[in-house]
Amino acid sequence: GELVVSFGEMLVDFVPTVAGVSLAEAPAFLKAPGGAPANVSIAVARLGGEAAFVGKLGDDEFGRMLAAILRDNGVDDGAVVFDAGARTALAFVTLRADGEREFMFYRNPSADMLLTADELNVDVIKRATVFHYGSISLIAEPCRSAHLRAMEIAKEAGALLSYDPNPREALWSSREEARTKILSIWDQADIVKVSESEVEFLTGINSVEDDVVMKLWRPTFKLLLVTLGGQGCKYYARDFRGVVPSYKIQQVDTTGAGDAFVGALLRKIVQDPSSLQNQEKLVEAIKFANACGAITTTKKGAIPSLPTEIEVLQLMENA
Ligand code: ATP
Repeated sequence: GELVVSFGEMLVDFVPTVAGVSLAEAPAFLKAPGGAPANVSIAVARLGGEAAFVGKLGDDEFGRMLAAILRDNGVDDGAVVFDAGARTALAFVTLRADGEREFMFYRNPSADMLLTADELNVDVIKRATVFHYGSISLIAEPCRSAHLRAMEIAKEAGALLSYDPNPREALWSSREEARTKILSIWDQADIVKVSESEVEFLTGINSVEDDVVMKLWRPTFKLLLVTLGGQGCKYYARDFRGVVPSYKIQQVDTTGAGDAFVGALLRKIVQDPSSLQNQEKLVEAIKFANACGAITTTKKGAIPSLPTEIEVLQLMENA
């Protein structure tokens, strides 16, 4: 099979209609579907792959809108459940003039946090070739237990586990709590993707030199990736490591670049799992993922800018 199952949150982002303002200064907001695991599932489907999303939405207009967006993009939403009592999560997100992203979340608690282990669609999880998740679903019970159970089910069924911690510090009670809980499931993963700033967050060292990154390596890992924005990506596998530069594009909005990168890489890995043991194949897969991430930065928003396979191959050929 080639199924990528993503587990976690899907929410509505509210993004200012004008660039470079604080949330308080924003004159108006546009709604945009978001949530890293949901973005990854749509990235996989947009590339022509098989994708399913597992999570909980509010039984409200936004929840139904998000489920429809999954379906319209070819993602299996059969494992999405709806909570009658809680709202779909909202986040107000802005890229300020100083380049920092500012988040304000409405999750008190939101439906995604209320997914229980009993509500998991075990059949979908068992069909996964890759099971992908982040760390936001680890923050609060009962979703935390559902997340841990889903990882167990996937692993027992033979899936590769893929982890993009993507920390949102504002959602945790402290930095230390975030770091500890994010690292509490570190050893279970087969594939881990972090960004440059996340290496610093997790190790306390502001460097992506190999000796620093290797502090995050575990002997059970198959692949550790460090994305470097426009610089591309560093990769660490059991028997080889290296850097793969990205492609030259006109960057407009980086939202979703990391998710596009992950979706593209997982698409390649389910098509040929031997890429994890073969440096030449792995470098090809990472080039594809870099191109997918690069294209996603050329337009505003995450989901609208995710490319098809043809668009990715075109960028790679024209480079
Ligand atoms: P996010 O901002 O979505 O959390 P991230 O920090 O995880 O993303 P980035 O490192 O910004 O991820 O981007 C992911 C990948 O997308 C990079 O490894 C690179 O391949 C590609 N990419 C991002 N920005 C650019 C750029 N300006 N030019 C070329 N490629 C880019």
